[in-house]
Amino acid sequence: MALDLIIIYAAPMVGIWAAYMVTRKRREAHSAAKFTAAREAGLLEPASLHPVIDPAKCIGCGSCVRACPEGDIIGLIGGKASLVEPSHCIGHGACEVVCPVNAITLVFGTETRGVDIPNVAEDFQTNVPGIYIAGELGGMGLVRNAIEQGRQAIDSIRKVTRTGDRQMLDVVIVGCGPAGLSASLAAMQHKLRSVTVEQDSLGGTVAHFPRGKLVMTAPFTLPLVGKFNIRELSKEELIGFFMNIVRKTRLKINLGERVESVARAPNGFEVRTTRSTYRTRSVLLTIGRRGTPRRLDVPGEDQTKVVYRLIDPEQYRGQHVLVVGGGDAALEAACSVAEQPGTTVTLSHRSGSFNRAKLKNRERVDEMRQSGRLNVLFHSTIRQVEPDAVEIEADGSAQRLRNQAVIVCAGGILPTSFLESMGIEVETKYGTA
Ligand SMILES: Cc1cc2nc3c(=O)[nH]c(=O)nc-3n(C[C@H](O)[C@H](O)[C@H](O)COP(=O)(O)OP(=O)(O)OC[C@H]3O[C@@H](n4cnc5c(N)ncnc54)[C@H](O)[C@@H]3O)c2cc1C
Ligand code: SF4
Repeated sequence: MALDLIIIYAAPMVGIWAAYMVTRKRREAHSAAKFTAAREAGLLEPASLHPVIDPAKCIGCGSCVRACPEGDIIGLIGGKASLVEPSHCIGHGACEVVCPVNAITLVFGTETRGVDIPNVAEDFQTNVPGIYIAGELGGMGLVRNAIEQGRQAIDSIRKVTRTGDRQMLDVVIVGCGPAGLSASLAAMQHKLRSVTVEQDSLGGTVAHFPRGKLVMTAPFTLPLVGKFNIRELSKEELIGFFMNIVRKTRLKINLGERVESVARAPNGFEVRTTRSTYRTRSVLLTIGRRGTPRRLDVPGEDQTKVVYRLIDPEQYRGQHVLVVGGGDAALEAACSVAEQPGTTVTLSHRSGSFNRAKLKNRERVDEMRQSGRLNVLFHSTIRQVEPDAVEIEADGSAQRLRNQAVIVCAGGILPTSFLESMGIEVETKYGTA
């Protein structure tokens, strides 16, 4: 009788435990496969702030795995939490908050890949008095943090008294991602004389998310607008929200204008851009960490058909497209556009091989070349971009190709050298907080 009772009560528990173990084993195998794929693709370096997990403390509860809003970034392998897709981590930090045994520390960079973080004081001022930094450039990523910091930085700037010089601006805001937008609204709210300059389009990094990407955010407050409580929305909805605000508040943003230098001038700074020169008593850098894409510097490059990043391959269906560059970004862009129906794609590279790119991408390019889906021009240089064509010099002879779109993937100029040119100190972090 007693044995019967034990069997009756124990059997379901054993069943539940066995089902749990099977599911857990399957999940661990899935995580291990993801990690192997990331290692083979050479994608083991997180871009910025990311968790480091102490295996001696981890009890394998999986809270961090469930807490990460980006999905499969952390997984359990061998009963311990591991970063399985490090390069996809964007530093939400939700894992650190939920870990019951404090096994997670958030750090910048790794032992092999340093991350440059500028020295910024609590009032967002750098070591150069009058130059301020807010948003992801200062090390604090995420949309909400950028918005909060943009507003707070303007609060600090407005406390500094104005000069009597009416020709002088109070602040030039460089970049109009979430931090720059929030700062620009705050400057408007406090009636500061300000100019916002954005080299690309409104929204910063958000505008470059893949189509339909779900943006996870915490509530934030935008100056002149108020509280924003939605926690999950698509990239398109967030950009639409930003555009609506700009329209309603009549905020002026100089889009397509890049700041090239910031130099000391009497009582402040001289900010030189691709279109103008501004005199200002302070500068707020909200330029993020993506840097400035390297340009071709050829006639016709300012046409809207020339872009510096592939966002949506489908938009090129049926078009004649030129991709410029020899790194992974160029090879991936060329192949994914060439896979779209009706496209004619040429990949132009100034040297004679793609030896900087990963093997997987080189093999994909070879396959597409052989099947006639992709035309590759080695030792080639773009001479001119015309409305419906491009002029290219390849192996010493000039060619004119029909063209409707140019995607330049020639790398970028990282913010560090820009900051150093202004005298701002940066510290390289190798896996430290
Ligand atoms: C793939 C991916 C997914 C992400 N998902 C999320 C998410 O779900 N939730 C979340 O909260 N965060 C997410 N993030 C992080 C978030 O996008 C950034 O933290 C945030 O955009 C930082 O805002 P920012 O204003 O500081 O900089 P950015 O958004 O990078 O904006 C900087 C702007 O400055 C401009 N600029 C740079 N140099 C110059 C110059 N010299 N002159 C003029 N303009 C210049 C740039 O063109 C850019 O528009 C994600 C990031 C990535 C890469
Ligand atoms: S939350 Fe902490 S203890 Fe739990 S799996 Fe993650 S790192 Fe390990």
